[in-house]
Amino acid sequence: MSESTNTEITINFTDLNLPEALLRVVSELGYETPSPIQAQCIPLLLNGEDVLGLAQTGTGKTAAFALPLLANIDISLNYPQVLVLAPTRELAIQVAEAFQTYARHLRGFHVMPIYGGQSYDIQFKQLRRGPQVVVGTPGRIMDHLKRKTLDLSHLTTLVLDEADEMLRMGFIDDVETIMKEMPEKRQTALFSATMPDQIKRITKRYMNKPTEVRIQSKTSTVENIEQKCWIVRGVNKLDALTRMLETEEFDGVIIFARTKTATVELAERLEARGYRSAALNGDMNQQVRERTIARIKSGSLDILVATDVAARGLDVERISLVVNYDIPTDTESYVHRIGRTGRAGRKGKAILFAAPRERRLLKAIENATRQQITIMDLPSHDEVTQTRIANFEKQILSVVESEDLSFYRTLFDQIENNSEIDDSDLAAALLYMAQKEKPLQPVEEKFVEPRSNDRDNDRGRERSDRSDRGRGRDRNDRNDRGDRSRDRNEQGGDKPRGRGRPTDVELEVYRIDVGRSHGVQVKNIVGAIANEADINSRFIGDIKLNDDYSTIELPKGMPAETMKHLENVYVCKRQLKIKKN
Ligand code: AMP
Repeated sequence: MSESTNTEITINFTDLNLPEALLRVVSELGYETPSPIQAQCIPLLLNGEDVLGLAQTGTGKTAAFALPLLANIDISLNYPQVLVLAPTRELAIQVAEAFQTYARHLRGFHVMPIYGGQSYDIQFKQLRRGPQVVVGTPGRIMDHLKRKTLDLSHLTTLVLDEADEMLRMGFIDDVETIMKEMPEKRQTALFSATMPDQIKRITKRYMNKPTEVRIQSKTSTVENIEQKCWIVRGVNKLDALTRMLETEEFDGVIIFARTKTATVELAERLEARGYRSAALNGDMNQQVRERTIARIKSGSLDILVATDVAARGLDVERISLVVNYDIPTDTESYVHRIGRTGRAGRKGKAILFAAPRERRLLKAIENATRQQITIMDLPSHDEVTQTRIANFEKQILSVVESEDLSFYRTLFDQIENNSEIDDSDLAAALLYMAQKEKPLQPVEEKFVEPRSNDRDNDRGRERSDRSDRGRGRDRNDRNDRGDRSRDRNEQGGDKPRGRGRPTDVELEVYRIDVGRSHGVQVKNIVGAIANEADINSRFIGDIKLNDDYSTIELPKGMPAETMKHLENVYVCKRQLKIKKN
């Protein structure tokens, strides 16, 4: 352990007994310190113990289990040793990608995502390569177990990721069946944002004296600081940030990013957009750090892009705005972050960027700070234009007041007389020329309306953001992704699918061969169809359960291939045999 800038003790990744190959990746990714959930889980999981992690997305939970489990697997053995169950195909892919990233220096390592909708042939082929880690959705994993194409007899560790979500999506019976088929002597880690009774029951029945890990959140008051939150949607984060910087009044700003790499990238991109900005992170030596802080104090810099550790204890009076560009991993670091403003009795403002799927953390922050955080709208293009015009006017006024303009007055008259352009046209042309470099009217950003799947769409958005940036290799910006299932659940659990459904999507009624008498519930159908057909559940309309069949509304014009696939999907041990009603 090492001392940080003030008296707090900071745990470093090097304190955690992780092998060199993993420490190297963590440092390459620009992670500065383990998040609280990582600091607690990694030692327990390395030690082979069971863990019950109460943690939501955004806390760094994926690395909290992936790093220690990677340290424990035997790469020379080509069979599944770790199985991760996840509620959706997106999460399964995301977790598999995380394993792949963290294992980049472990030669011979294979991870395989298994999810519905992908061809069995591809999956059989990949399984034959002998992945040490399999990440899958419960339905498809069950299929492979039944077909005996997945052998879990050598499994040492099982991870249930987002267990409450699996429960909500109707997968809990499958999860239990899978758990029963596994070696009894195994390590189990279960992560869940909430602990409903059914999950508690599973932990009691199938886990071996698990240690409960949750992030303690002390309540702290934050005075003098106005807190706002923008839900990341529709516009990429950098564009949103620049719109805010244009319209918010500020003196000095601190923007918080998660990784060292992200601080450098963002500072460079803000510089390129004309802001005087610099990065502040733990890679900098004391001298550079002090020089940077002196520059923001003196006003030769306006924006610092910092990591938590680097900004700890920072006391600069002119900081009037804190932007949480990446959501912090826990409430305490949020309170530390926003405490960089509102210094010396001044007023401060704090803006948080949170993806729809990170709303839980937002709630936790509200509870910890005992203050409501106002959800804000992004300034519109019109507002940005108005602010630019107001600043432009100010500039003109200051030139009129401070410069000797006699030469230009004569020139104006001369051009007007020579060209016979009337004075308003001439003034308009000059205004146009004066703003050409930095147009008063912002360029409309294009973004794609949701297609079939929110998450994919957000991914697409993120991808374009990345290629634009050209360097974003980190999963940091993954935060941008929306989350369909969570959105749905926030809108009221398993209430009608139609809620939040885009009204312009035309639906058709289909009949499926499973009904109440087979024990099916609406959530089972939604879970299976959403995963197998890769449809955002918002696009699934009403589901009516009858005794031996059900009807379901799906978007008109479903691809024939998807329908063919759905015919063979099993729900409650029955083939759906879906057809138009
Ligand atoms: P998760 O909660 O697992 O979805 O992770 C959220 C994000 O935090 C991902 O983009 C990770 O790459 C990032 N992350 C995880 N651990 C750390 C860390 N110790 N420092 C900085 N970023 C991290």
